[in-house]
Amino acid sequence: MYAPPVQRLITELGKLPGIGARTAQRLAFHLLRADSDEALALADAIREVTEKVGLCDVCFNLAEGPRCQICEDPRRDAGLICVIEEPGDVVPIERTHEYRGRYHVLGGALSPIDGVDPEDLKLSELFARVENAAPDEPVREVVLATNPTTTGEATALYVADRLRRTAPEVTVTRLASGLPVGADLEYADEVTLGKALAGRRAL
Ligand SMILES: [Zn+2]
Repeated sequence: MYAPPVQRLITELGKLPGIGARTAQRLAFHLLRADSDEALALADAIREVTEKVGLCDVCFNLAEGPRCQICEDPRRDAGLICVIEEPGDVVPIERTHEYRGRYHVLGGALSPIDGVDPEDLKLSELFARVENAAPDEPVREVVLATNPTTTGEATALYVADRLRRTAPEVTVTRLASGLPVGADLEYADEVTLGKALAGRRAL
């Protein structure tokens, strides 16, 4: 129906989350109509991000280089680790200005139905981080900030149960209730999220 390059663009755009066939078509035609500079700027941004941005070796947040800015920052409390599902969850938590610790990004949540098992997430890396922390910088608290969804809750319970057995000296906390149940962290407003962080309770 379309010239092959146009069809290719529509196919690639259609793979993006939330973009159906109609939207992919509309975006493709927008790009074809736009200044070639504008369209190429988008292509360059995609190329640059895929070439330069990877995952932090320590916490699996996005990083330009081996470590992310938060792990590189000596002012951030290494004794406090906030466990989140996706790198994007760092942003709403940082926006609350309630949190001065570090992060650990799991890369999703446990969901056996969808084939997401513990080995598919950065869980063993989290346990190793807690259990092998340097004696002069021990982990005191792990804050479970997975989403308030069924899979996020299951993941939080899994982590809490494991740490209770292998690292009983570490306090494990969960964000206070008040967050919209079933929604992702990224949709919580900063006041609500800030209160949920400040009011976190031991699991
Ligand atoms: Zn990091």
